[in-house]
Amino acid sequence: MSSLNFDPYAQLAKQDSSPAKSANPAKVENNHLSLASLATLAARTTHSSNIWDAADWHAFYHERAGIAEHDGGLSRIDADHMTYEHCVVRWMNENPIGHKSPGICPQCSQATGSNPIAVLNPGGGHLWLHDKCHSPCLARRRQEAAKALVGMGIEL
Ligand SMILES: [Zn+2]
Repeated sequence: MSSLNFDPYAQLAKQDSSPAKSANPAKVENNHLSLASLATLAARTTHSSNIWDAADWHAFYHERAGIAEHDGGLSRIDADHMTYEHCVVRWMNENPIGHKSPGICPQCSQATGSNPIAVLNPGGGHLWLHDKCHSPCLARRRQEAAKALVGMGIEL
């Protein structure tokens, strides 16, 4: 058939109008996992520090530091510093700032006025704060992260 003579209505009329057959369901051969174990597995694969305990953070820290040292060629001191910074950032990402009132700076709790700066909030979206409050806010967040990490036995 030439494309110049193509009649889409005639083509549709020639097609079988019966519905497609449904696919056979997959056979589940490994059905020894209970719903509880699947729920636990699903919870452990999400990225929330609420479910990470000290053992999880230690495993993460030592894996990252080991990779940085052995595969990355860093000294152990540099690998520890890099990994600690990674943990701080990860903690901040997994524990976003909860204060999200529009027009209110999350650092000083004052109205942001007409010239705020936007900061990404890992919990979703962004926050607006004064430019003068950005550094103190970051410092406060780092202190919160350091305190939480110390509580899990991770510190420099
Ligand atoms: Zn402020």
